[in-house]
Amino acid sequence: MTERLYMPAYLSRVLEKHGFTFSKALGQNFLIDGNVLRRIADGADLSKEDFVLEIGPGVGTLTEELAIRSEKVVAVELDRRLIPILKETLAAYDNVEVIHQDAMETDFQELIESKGNGLRPKLVANLPYNVGTVLVAKLLEERLPLTSMTVLLQNEVADRMVAEPGTKDYGSLSVLIAYYTKGKKLFKVPRTVFRPKPNVDSAVVHLVRKTHLPEIDEDLLFRLVRAGFNQRRKTILNSLTAEEAGVEKAVLLEVLERLNLSPKLRAENLSLGDFIEITREISGN
Ligand code: SAM
Repeated sequence: MTERLYMPAYLSRVLEKHGFTFSKALGQNFLIDGNVLRRIADGADLSKEDFVLEIGPGVGTLTEELAIRSEKVVAVELDRRLIPILKETLAAYDNVEVIHQDAMETDFQELIESKGNGLRPKLVANLPYNVGTVLVAKLLEERLPLTSMTVLLQNEVADRMVAEPGTKDYGSLSVLIAYYTKGKKLFKVPRTVFRPKPNVDSAVVHLVRKTHLPEIDEDLLFRLVRAGFNQRRKTILNSLTAEEAGVEKAVLLEVLERLNLSPKLRAENLSLGDFIEITREISGN
Protein backbone atom coordinates (compact mmCIF):
# COMPACT_ATOMS: atom_id res chain seq x y z
CA MET A 1 0.00 0.00 0.00
CA THR A 2 1.30 3.49 -0.85
CA GLU A 3 2.14 5.50 2.21
CA ARG A 4 -0.12 8.49 2.67
CA LEU A 5 0.52 11.47 4.87
CA TYR A 6 -2.35 10.85 7.23
CA MET A 7 -1.12 7.39 8.18
CA PRO A 8 -0.13 7.69 11.85
CA ALA A 9 3.22 5.92 11.44
CA TYR A 10 4.24 8.13 8.51
CA LEU A 11 3.01 11.28 10.23
CA SER A 12 4.97 10.42 13.38
CA ARG A 13 8.10 9.85 11.32
CA VAL A 14 7.79 13.18 9.53
CA LEU A 15 7.07 15.09 12.73
CA GLU A 16 9.92 13.38 14.56
CA LYS A 17 12.39 13.94 11.76
CA HIS A 18 11.71 17.67 11.88
CA GLY A 19 11.45 17.79 15.66
CA PHE A 20 7.96 19.28 15.31
CA THR A 21 5.88 19.97 18.40
CA PHE A 22 2.23 21.00 18.19
CA SER A 23 1.26 24.57 18.97
CA LYS A 24 -1.98 24.96 20.88
CA ALA A 25 -2.02 28.69 20.19
CA LEU A 26 -2.14 27.97 16.46
CA GLY A 27 -4.97 25.47 16.86
CA GLN A 28 -2.85 22.59 15.58
CA ASN A 29 -4.94 19.44 15.63
CA PHE A 30 -3.99 17.37 12.61
CA LEU A 31 -6.37 14.91 10.97
CA ILE A 32 -5.12 11.34 10.94
CA ASP A 33 -8.05 9.58 9.32
CA GLY A 34 -7.96 9.01 5.57
CA ASN A 35 -11.66 8.36 5.42
CA VAL A 36 -12.54 11.71 6.98
CA LEU A 37 -10.08 13.50 4.69
CA ARG A 38 -11.65 11.90 1.64
CA ARG A 39 -15.14 12.76 2.86
CA ILE A 40 -14.17 16.43 3.30
CA ALA A 41 -12.76 16.51 -0.24
CA ASP A 42 -15.87 14.71 -1.54
CA GLY A 43 -18.04 17.25 0.26
CA ALA A 44 -16.19 20.08 -1.50
CA ASP A 45 -17.21 18.51 -4.80
CA LEU A 46 -13.91 19.17 -6.58
CA SER A 47 -12.90 18.70 -10.19
CA LYS A 48 -10.06 19.68 -12.48
CA GLU A 49 -11.88 22.96 -13.15
CA ASP A 50 -11.33 24.05 -9.58
CA PHE A 51 -8.77 26.27 -7.90
CA VAL A 52 -8.65 25.47 -4.21
CA LEU A 53 -7.60 27.82 -1.46
CA GLU A 54 -6.66 26.06 1.74
CA ILE A 55 -6.03 27.72 5.08
CA GLY A 56 -3.70 25.96 7.50
CA PRO A 57 -2.37 22.93 5.60
CA GLY A 58 -0.49 21.62 8.65
CA VAL A 59 1.75 18.87 7.25
CA GLY A 60 -0.33 18.62 4.09
CA THR A 61 -2.70 15.71 4.71
CA LEU A 62 -5.80 17.46 3.41
CA THR A 63 -3.76 19.38 0.85
CA GLU A 64 -2.71 16.09 -0.75
CA GLU A 65 -6.34 15.04 -1.14
CA LEU A 66 -7.21 18.44 -2.64
CA ALA A 67 -4.26 18.34 -5.04
CA ILE A 68 -5.35 14.97 -6.39
CA ARG A 69 -8.88 16.19 -7.15
CA SER A 70 -8.45 19.78 -8.30
CA GLU A 71 -6.37 21.65 -10.86
CA LYS A 72 -4.50 23.86 -8.45
CA VAL A 73 -4.15 24.40 -4.70
CA VAL A 74 -2.77 27.41 -2.88
CA ALA A 75 -2.34 26.77 0.83
CA VAL A 76 -1.74 29.57 3.35
CA GLU A 77 0.12 28.47 6.48
CA LEU A 78 1.16 30.72 9.36
CA ASP A 79 3.58 28.40 11.17
CA ARG A 80 7.04 28.93 9.70
CA ARG A 81 8.22 25.52 11.01
CA LEU A 82 5.75 23.77 8.72
CA ILE A 83 7.02 25.32 5.50
CA PRO A 84 10.06 23.00 5.01
CA ILE A 85 7.93 20.04 6.09
CA LEU A 86 5.28 20.85 3.47
CA LYS A 87 7.97 21.23 0.83
CA GLU A 88 8.98 17.67 1.54
CA THR A 89 5.57 16.06 2.07
CA LEU A 90 4.00 17.64 -1.00
CA ALA A 91 7.03 17.31 -3.28
CA ALA A 92 5.12 14.95 -5.57
CA TYR A 93 2.41 17.53 -6.33
CA ASP A 94 3.45 20.25 -8.74
CA ASN A 95 -0.02 21.84 -8.61
CA VAL A 96 0.40 22.95 -4.99
CA GLU A 97 1.81 26.24 -3.81
CA VAL A 98 2.35 26.95 -0.14
CA ILE A 99 2.37 30.53 1.08
CA HIS A 100 3.78 31.43 4.47
CA GLN A 101 1.32 34.01 5.75
CA ASP A 102 -1.31 34.81 8.36
CA ALA A 103 -4.67 34.02 6.74
CA MET A 104 -6.21 36.83 8.80
CA GLU A 105 -4.09 39.24 6.80
CA THR A 106 -4.01 37.52 3.43
CA ASP A 107 -5.47 39.35 0.44
CA PHE A 108 -7.48 36.40 -0.90
CA GLN A 109 -9.00 38.50 -3.67
CA GLU A 110 -5.52 39.19 -5.01
CA LEU A 111 -4.53 35.53 -4.59
CA ILE A 112 -7.52 34.38 -6.60
CA GLU A 113 -6.80 36.91 -9.35
CA SER A 114 -3.09 36.24 -9.56
CA LYS A 115 -3.03 32.48 -9.10
CA GLY A 116 -6.49 31.22 -9.99
CA ASN A 117 -5.89 31.00 -13.77
CA GLY A 118 -9.57 31.68 -14.37
CA LEU A 119 -10.48 28.42 -12.62
CA ARG A 120 -13.46 28.13 -10.26
CA PRO A 121 -12.24 29.20 -6.80
CA LYS A 122 -13.30 27.18 -3.77
CA LEU A 123 -12.09 27.18 -0.21
CA VAL A 124 -11.48 23.99 1.75
CA ALA A 125 -9.96 23.97 5.23
CA ASN A 126 -9.63 22.28 8.55
CA LEU A 127 -9.63 25.60 10.35
CA PRO A 128 -7.68 26.41 13.50
CA TYR A 129 -10.22 26.58 16.35
CA ASN A 130 -9.17 29.95 17.67
CA VAL A 131 -9.76 31.89 14.44
CA GLY A 132 -12.19 29.64 12.54
CA THR A 133 -15.39 31.64 12.98
CA VAL A 134 -13.72 35.01 12.52
CA LEU A 135 -12.03 33.81 9.34
CA VAL A 136 -15.25 32.49 7.80
CA ALA A 137 -17.02 35.78 8.62
CA LYS A 138 -14.13 37.77 7.16
CA LEU A 139 -14.10 35.76 3.92
CA LEU A 140 -17.85 36.18 3.50
CA GLU A 141 -17.87 39.89 4.27
CA GLU A 142 -15.08 40.44 1.76
CA ARG A 143 -17.44 38.97 -0.86
CA LEU A 144 -14.71 36.86 -2.39
CA PRO A 145 -15.71 35.14 -5.60
CA LEU A 146 -15.52 31.71 -3.92
CA THR A 147 -18.12 29.29 -5.26
CA SER A 148 -18.14 27.39 -2.00
CA MET A 149 -16.44 27.01 1.35
CA THR A 150 -16.09 23.57 2.88
CA VAL A 151 -14.75 23.94 6.38
CA LEU A 152 -14.16 21.82 9.42
CA LEU A 153 -14.79 23.58 12.71
CA GLN A 154 -16.00 22.81 16.22
CA ASN A 155 -19.30 20.95 16.08
CA GLU A 156 -20.95 23.56 18.26
CA VAL A 157 -19.91 26.34 15.85
CA ALA A 158 -21.11 24.29 12.87
CA ASP A 159 -24.52 23.93 14.55
CA ARG A 160 -24.73 27.68 15.15
CA MET A 161 -23.80 28.40 11.54
CA VAL A 162 -26.66 26.43 10.03
CA ALA A 163 -29.26 26.84 12.80
CA GLU A 164 -32.89 27.66 11.92
CA PRO A 165 -34.93 30.42 13.62
CA GLY A 166 -36.56 29.42 16.87
CA THR A 167 -33.77 27.05 17.92
CA LYS A 168 -31.28 27.55 20.74
CA ASP A 169 -28.33 27.62 18.35
CA TYR A 170 -29.84 30.32 16.15
CA GLY A 171 -27.97 33.61 16.46
CA SER A 172 -26.16 36.36 14.61
CA LEU A 173 -23.71 33.85 13.07
CA SER A 174 -26.64 31.88 11.60
CA VAL A 175 -28.08 35.06 10.06
CA LEU A 176 -24.70 36.06 8.64
CA ILE A 177 -24.23 32.62 7.06
CA ALA A 178 -27.80 32.59 5.70
CA TYR A 179 -27.35 36.07 4.24
CA TYR A 180 -24.28 35.16 2.19
CA THR A 181 -24.68 31.45 1.59
CA LYS A 182 -26.79 28.33 1.50
CA GLY A 183 -25.22 26.37 4.31
CA LYS A 184 -25.38 22.70 5.19
CA LYS A 185 -23.75 20.64 7.91
CA LEU A 186 -22.31 17.61 6.14
CA PHE A 187 -21.13 15.34 8.95
CA LYS A 188 -19.73 15.23 12.45
CA VAL A 189 -16.08 14.39 13.03
CA PRO A 190 -15.19 12.78 16.36
CA ARG A 191 -12.29 14.21 18.36
CA THR A 192 -10.54 10.83 18.18
CA VAL A 193 -9.39 11.33 14.58
CA PHE A 194 -7.10 14.25 15.40
CA ARG A 195 -3.63 14.40 16.76
CA PRO A 196 -3.38 15.76 19.38
CA LYS A 197 -6.94 14.95 20.41
CA PRO A 198 -8.96 18.16 21.02
CA ASN A 199 -11.49 18.50 23.84
CA VAL A 200 -14.50 18.79 21.56
CA ASP A 201 -15.93 17.13 18.45
CA SER A 202 -15.88 18.84 15.07
CA ALA A 203 -18.10 18.95 12.02
CA VAL A 204 -17.81 19.77 8.34
CA VAL A 205 -19.95 22.57 6.93
CA HIS A 206 -20.48 23.23 3.24
CA LEU A 207 -21.38 26.82 2.36
CA VAL A 208 -22.42 27.66 -1.19
CA ARG A 209 -22.13 31.35 -1.95
CA LYS A 210 -25.33 33.11 -3.04
CA THR A 211 -24.78 34.83 -6.36
CA HIS A 212 -27.42 37.51 -5.74
CA LEU A 213 -27.54 39.47 -2.54
CA PRO A 214 -30.44 41.81 -1.77
CA GLU A 215 -30.10 45.56 -2.36
CA ILE A 216 -30.13 46.66 1.20
CA ASP A 217 -28.45 48.81 3.84
CA GLU A 218 -26.20 46.01 5.10
CA ASP A 219 -24.72 48.11 7.80
CA LEU A 220 -28.16 48.66 9.35
CA LEU A 221 -29.14 45.01 8.79
CA PHE A 222 -26.18 43.68 10.74
CA ARG A 223 -26.48 46.38 13.40
CA LEU A 224 -30.03 45.19 14.02
CA VAL A 225 -28.98 41.53 14.01
CA ARG A 226 -26.20 42.17 16.50
CA ALA A 227 -28.43 44.29 18.74
CA GLY A 228 -31.15 41.63 18.62
CA PHE A 229 -28.90 38.78 19.68
CA ASN A 230 -26.77 40.74 22.12
CA GLN A 231 -29.85 40.82 24.30
CA ARG A 232 -31.62 37.73 23.04
CA ARG A 233 -33.90 37.43 26.10
CA LYS A 234 -35.42 40.86 25.46
CA THR A 235 -38.33 41.56 23.13
CA ILE A 236 -37.37 42.96 19.75
CA LEU A 237 -39.03 46.25 20.71
CA ASN A 238 -36.33 46.63 23.36
CA SER A 239 -33.36 44.85 21.81
CA LEU A 240 -33.64 46.34 18.31
CA THR A 241 -33.86 49.83 19.77
CA ALA A 242 -30.73 49.46 21.88
CA GLU A 243 -28.24 52.26 21.36
CA GLU A 244 -25.99 50.30 19.00
CA ALA A 245 -28.88 49.82 16.53
CA GLY A 246 -29.71 53.51 16.42
CA VAL A 247 -33.44 52.99 15.81
CA GLU A 248 -36.16 54.84 17.68
CA LYS A 249 -38.93 52.92 19.43
CA ALA A 250 -41.73 54.83 17.70
CA VAL A 251 -40.20 54.10 14.28
CA LEU A 252 -39.72 50.42 15.04
CA LEU A 253 -43.26 50.05 16.39
CA GLU A 254 -44.68 51.46 13.21
CA VAL A 255 -42.48 49.23 11.04
CA LEU A 256 -43.39 46.11 12.99
CA GLU A 257 -47.05 46.92 12.67
CA ARG A 258 -46.75 47.37 8.91
CA LEU A 259 -44.96 44.02 8.69
CA ASN A 260 -47.43 42.33 10.95
CA LEU A 261 -44.70 41.30 13.40
CA SER A 262 -45.38 41.38 17.13
CA PRO A 263 -43.07 43.71 19.11
CA LYS A 264 -43.05 40.99 21.76
CA LEU A 265 -41.10 38.58 19.59
CA ARG A 266 -37.45 37.89 20.31
CA ALA A 267 -34.62 38.07 17.79
CA GLU A 268 -34.45 34.28 17.74
CA ASN A 269 -37.97 34.23 16.23
CA LEU A 270 -36.96 36.41 13.28
CA SER A 271 -35.80 34.80 10.04
CA LEU A 272 -33.23 36.40 7.75
CA GLY A 273 -36.20 37.47 5.60
CA ASP A 274 -37.80 39.24 8.59
CA PHE A 275 -34.56 41.08 9.41
CA ILE A 276 -34.28 42.12 5.77
CA GLU A 277 -37.85 43.44 5.70
CA ILE A 278 -37.41 45.37 8.94
CA THR A 279 -34.19 46.88 7.59
CA ARG A 280 -35.87 47.88 4.33
CA GLU A 281 -38.81 49.48 6.09
CA ILE A 282 -36.56 51.46 8.42
CA SER A 283 -34.19 52.65 5.73
CA GLY A 284 -36.98 53.27 3.27
CA ASN A 285 -35.79 51.17 0.33
N1 SAM B 1 -4.92 20.91 7.51
C1 SAM B 1 -4.25 20.18 8.56
C2 SAM B 1 -5.05 18.95 8.91
O1 SAM B 1 -6.21 18.88 8.48
O2 SAM B 1 -4.53 18.06 9.57
C3 SAM B 1 -4.01 21.06 9.81
C4 SAM B 1 -5.25 21.71 10.40
S1 SAM B 1 -4.96 22.48 11.96
C5 SAM B 1 -6.56 22.35 12.68
C6 SAM B 1 -4.90 24.21 11.64
C7 SAM B 1 -3.70 24.73 10.84
O3 SAM B 1 -3.84 26.14 10.64
C8 SAM B 1 -2.35 24.53 11.48
O4 SAM B 1 -1.44 24.06 10.53
C9 SAM B 1 -1.95 25.94 11.94
O5 SAM B 1 -0.55 26.15 11.99
C10 SAM B 1 -2.60 26.79 10.88
N2 SAM B 1 -2.93 28.17 11.27
C11 SAM B 1 -3.30 28.63 12.48
N3 SAM B 1 -3.58 29.94 12.44
C12 SAM B 1 -3.40 30.33 11.14
C13 SAM B 1 -3.52 31.57 10.46
N4 SAM B 1 -3.92 32.67 11.09
N5 SAM B 1 -3.24 31.59 9.13
C14 SAM B 1 -2.86 30.47 8.47
N6 SAM B 1 -2.71 29.28 9.07
C15 SAM B 1 -2.99 29.20 10.39
